[in-house]
Amino acid sequence: MAEKDLKCTSCNTSIKGIKGATTFKCPSCGKQEIIRCEHCRVIVARYKCPTCGFSGPN
Ligand SMILES: [Zn+2]
Ligand SMILES: [Zn+2]
Repeated sequence: MAEKDLKCTSCNTSIKGIKGATTFKCPSCGKQEIIRCEHCRVIVARYKCPTCGFSGPN
């Protein structure tokens, strides 16, 4: 089993089995996968890309 442990980039909660969570590539560097749980989407929590330091909700 090589399943990735997906955790929300903002709050570090595992999104496994959580619907409404989203993943997308960092809009700045395009390399880092950003993961957001539903909660952080709703409250528009900020995330920070650990690769390039880009932060935002946008
Ligand atoms: Zn979260
Ligand atoms: Zn980045």
